[in-house]
Amino acid sequence: MQVVTRFAPSPTGFLHLGHVYAASAAWHAARQAGGRFLLRLEDIDPQRCRAEYAAAALEDLAWLGFVSDAPLRVQSAHLPEYRATLEHLAARALIYPCFCSRADIAREVAAAASAPHTGDTGAPDGSPYPGTCRHLPPAVRAEKLAAGAPHAWRLDMQAALAHVATTGAALRFFEPSEGWIAADPAPFGDVVLGRRDVPASYHLCVTHDDALQGITLVTRAHDLKPATHLHVLLQHLMHWPTPAYAHHALLTGPTGARLSKRDGAVPIRDLRAKGLTADEICRQVIG
Ligand SMILES: [Zn+2]
Repeated sequence: MQVVTRFAPSPTGFLHLGHVYAASAAWHAARQAGGRFLLRLEDIDPQRCRAEYAAAALEDLAWLGFVSDAPLRVQSAHLPEYRATLEHLAARALIYPCFCSRADIAREVAAAASAPHTGDTGAPDGSPYPGTCRHLPPAVRAEKLAAGAPHAWRLDMQAALAHVATTGAALRFFEPSEGWIAADPAPFGDVVLGRRDVPASYHLCVTHDDALQGITLVTRAHDLKPATHLHVLLQHLMHWPTPAYAHHALLTGPTGARLSKRDGAVPIRDLRAKGLTADEICRQVIG
């Protein structure tokens, strides 16, 4: 099977050395295996993503030599596909509409003194959703939907795990440096798969696109390893193949903190403006 990797930045700022490190990992994994390297823009967040950053990212990547072996995938141009995936899951009662506002959820979490603390599970959405809308009477749910009430779509984790149990499948993923790892998605709880503002979410789009683009090896930073446990579940529910996952260290700055714009990571374009070559920039993240 040909190895297919991808680099999938979100255009929320200018690319910096951390991005070069991640792109380089995917690029070399593909090249060393005689495989293919693909580019994707994960730009579904209308609040945080900007067209100027997308254009700058593509220009920087081309200048660095990280050229995609297939047409660029731009997620914001494919919202109907993500919506269709949500409809598929809704038809199987694996997701449900959630009409709660952030304030509603915060109040519920605070009120439930016995709510399990899962802040250290790595669930990217923070506290687990208390399940308020999971058991709304069907008539109430239909009425709210018909009235156009704003809503997100949440995974019914219990229903999803029950479905997995009926198939007898083992949820797991292969990490080349560690071997097979059993996936435990339960700590994510009823995670949002479709946002209020767009019929999509990071978790939905990344698994959808990895399957669509035939990605066989996902290289990404270690901070996303917890999310892989959820992604394996989504792949199982949607009958998508599970790629191998090579989670790499986060490139750190001089203080040991994760390199990001906030931490003072210098944009690639500033290094270019100083006269550094693409080779010199890539060497900075390899040694
Ligand atoms: Zn709700």
